[in-house]
Amino acid sequence: MKKSLSILLLLVAFISMRAQDTTKLAPYTAQVSALAAEAQMKSSFDFVDRNRDAILREWTTITEINAPSGHEQERAKYIEKLLRKYKLQKIYYDAVGNLIALRKGTGGGPTVVFDSHMDTVFQPGLKIKATVRGGTIYAPGIGDDTRNVEAMLASIRALDAAHVKTKGDLLFVFTVEEETTFKGVKQFVQDNKSKINYYVALDGGYEGLTYGGIGINWYRHHFIGPGGHTRSRTPPYSATLPLARAIERIYELKLPENPPTNLNIGMLGGSQVVNAKASDAWFTVDLRSTSNELLDDYEHRIARILQEEAERAGMTVKTEVISRTPAAILPGHRDSTLVRTAEAVQIQMGFTNPPVTITGSNNSNVALHEGIPAISTGAGDCSASHSLEENCQIETIYGGIKKVILLEVALAQLSP
Ligand SMILES: [Zn+2]
Repeated sequence: MKKSLSILLLLVAFISMRAQDTTKLAPYTAQVSALAAEAQMKSSFDFVDRNRDAILREWTTITEINAPSGHEQERAKYIEKLLRKYKLQKIYYDAVGNLIALRKGTGGGPTVVFDSHMDTVFQPGLKIKATVRGGTIYAPGIGDDTRNVEAMLASIRALDAAHVKTKGDLLFVFTVEEETTFKGVKQFVQDNKSKINYYVALDGGYEGLTYGGIGINWYRHHFIGPGGHTRSRTPPYSATLPLARAIERIYELKLPENPPTNLNIGMLGGSQVVNAKASDAWFTVDLRSTSNELLDDYEHRIARILQEEAERAGMTVKTEVISRTPAAILPGHRDSTLVRTAEAVQIQMGFTNPPVTITGSNNSNVALHEGIPAISTGAGDCSASHSLEENCQIETIYGGIKKVILLEVALAQLSP
């Protein structure tokens, strides 16, 4: 009896939470569905339907120009040539090589940034050739992030073709070095932060969006011992022993699901030869959480384990911090105009219950760190990113482009 009562209470609480959420969302869904019904918006969607083959061809061509981080110039030149044909007020490169295009509004609206990153994770010189099999297109980089580069280009053409004018300015940014250092977005945000109202990073996430950045700390931990030959008496052990013990204990740590927290030990190393006890045995830790307190907490817990295992083996421990990126969460952002509008756009495009999460790890994190309202979402259903098997469902890019168009106009607002 008591159990069923508590389940009932939980259910009531859940329903009233959902009801509260629906009430908050309602004005945005009403606005977005009215916008989607406008003749000009329909005409921009028709443009996408009429140009499916051209979109697929261009998407393929851009993907086949490999652009490893730091080597984006050739791809950028190709994109620039396309932009020169559109109705844009300004096309330029900034100091680090981001390609930026301004579609000026009629006035009185916000400045809205859409970005996609030009760089890929594949090595220079890799020959890329896309293949299509049964509605799926395969090519390294086809999804991450070329689907979104193409979505931005096609969306500008569609807005032009449908004579859509927005009140706010749309600033399109094709960034460099997202996959490595965020050098591109950091420069862009530094140069423009005073004028940006909304920032949308198009990267991943076909269904749903992220509105917070997960914090990421990378470490390399070393156990340092005297080393020696396999048969030497002292020390009794290789530095790999405390390493093994420590790894096992770290993996026994309970990680909360909420706030989302993850860790991974992906690399390790020891002696250079089989017949030597390691004097330096090391491993990496990739620690992630949307809570900076939890990042600190787990950093300390891991440090304690390392210290204990080093002492137990009579060795010392040395920690290198490879990088630290704090979590980026804006207070009240879940109910902001940007997040609620983007959620309403998702629903309008047929995703009934889009996942809205705070675990983003892309250019939007950098904007959020500067206090700029930012989200990330994407324009197609793709898988196996960062691998040679990367692929996308072709059909989904067309809906994805329409989603991007609707989001652009909903945020910058249609001008009569
Ligand atoms: Zn990406």
